[in-house]
Amino acid sequence: MRLSPTVQTLKPSATIAAAAKAKELAAQGVNVYEFTLGEPDFITPVHIREAAKEAMDAGHTHYTPSSGIPALKQAICAAAKRDHGLEYEPSQVVVSNGAKHSIHNVLTALCGPGDEVIISTPYWVSYSALVELTGATPVLVETTLESGFCLQPDQFAAAVTPNTRLLMLNNPCNPTGAAYPVETLEGLAAVAVEKGIPVLSDEIYEKLIYEGSEFRSFASLSPEAKDLTIIVSGVSKAYAMTGWRIGWTLAPPDLTKAMDKLQSQQTSNPCSVSQHAAVTALNGPQECVTEMLTEFRTRRKYVLSRLKEIPGLRFADPGGAFYAFFNVSEYFGKPLGENAVVVNNSSDFCTALLEDAHVALVTGDAFGAPGYVRLSFATSMDILESGLDRLAKFLNP
Ligand code: PMP
Ligand code: GLU
Repeated sequence: MRLSPTVQTLKPSATIAAAAKAKELAAQGVNVYEFTLGEPDFITPVHIREAAKEAMDAGHTHYTPSSGIPALKQAICAAAKRDHGLEYEPSQVVVSNGAKHSIHNVLTALCGPGDEVIISTPYWVSYSALVELTGATPVLVETTLESGFCLQPDQFAAAVTPNTRLLMLNNPCNPTGAAYPVETLEGLAAVAVEKGIPVLSDEIYEKLIYEGSEFRSFASLSPEAKDLTIIVSGVSKAYAMTGWRIGWTLAPPDLTKAMDKLQSQQTSNPCSVSQHAAVTALNGPQECVTEMLTEFRTRRKYVLSRLKEIPGLRFADPGGAFYAFFNVSEYFGKPLGENAVVVNNSSDFCTALLEDAHVALVTGDAFGAPGYVRLSFATSMDILESGLDRLAKFLNP
């Protein structure tokens, strides 16, 4: 069949593709050390699973309002108030099938051909692809290891043109783990307000913050910043609920109405049972979040100490999320692993590492950062220990 130009040029998600490749090898009986997908290895906490079972038994198995059930919208507003001091009304919430869907809704509601969307590199794989789906153009602005991979206010200001429709900000950031200092956020907000540019603030990793870093929601910087902010968040990462597919936006009412209309035509509503589970995640005890964070903290410390022992790797310590993002270009052009493979870019590096050492990482090329690779430490200590042993040996055989 003849495919539309839109899908012909659309790239598949590189993170999902890398995970699929690792699973394919594992299905052949190979013991693969898997660090590709950014998803917590924990099963969803038991009280949330119980809430889902109760919801099913109570008959919550029907269509829901397209933008989500009132109880979940209220829980999302209450969490925004509790965690960030933010006042939102349920009429400012759209619940979607995961935060990825929320981002798609925002972009579809705001952007079209001729528009520009500013994205700082390294960026999460789906950002540029979702912008391109709307016909708008991603304007990539490079951040550096030296600036901790944080977009600087002057860079933002310089990238704005009359066609700029949106800044996409991800704090803490996937893939770099960068957690923005409050002063940098304030500087970015000042530019956004001065130039009247809306900001999609993807705060899905808001609960995963480590020592020495802090989290500030972009909407909490000033009332003027809040009016321009679209917060994207969800339960996937903080509550280990990736498979339930619940994300949301907190946005000005007019944009919220537009996204509700869009969603009513696209998907009717997010899964009813998952919505009830998400209510319990947000309103229930929060110890599960702290427990998982404690585990991530231990793993992060271990991974960073191991990476620091390997000569030539360059990286910034991640302040949030669960990724280590490091530069391996020092190893290009040198014989690597048992088979003395020579590679000259991150994609070939990841392929060789998987084939030779059975360690699966995601290439930085997918995030607009050649020379880098991403390791997700949302996996067990056992796998991290063996996988890092194998990475170290592959690099210095
Ligand atoms: N934003 C970022 C930065 C992410 O890493 C992810 C990863 N899944 C998402 C959004 C999408 O999350 P969800 O699983 O809720 O769609
Ligand atoms: N966001 C996760 C990641 O970056 C999940 C995969 C995806 O949705 O692309 O690995």
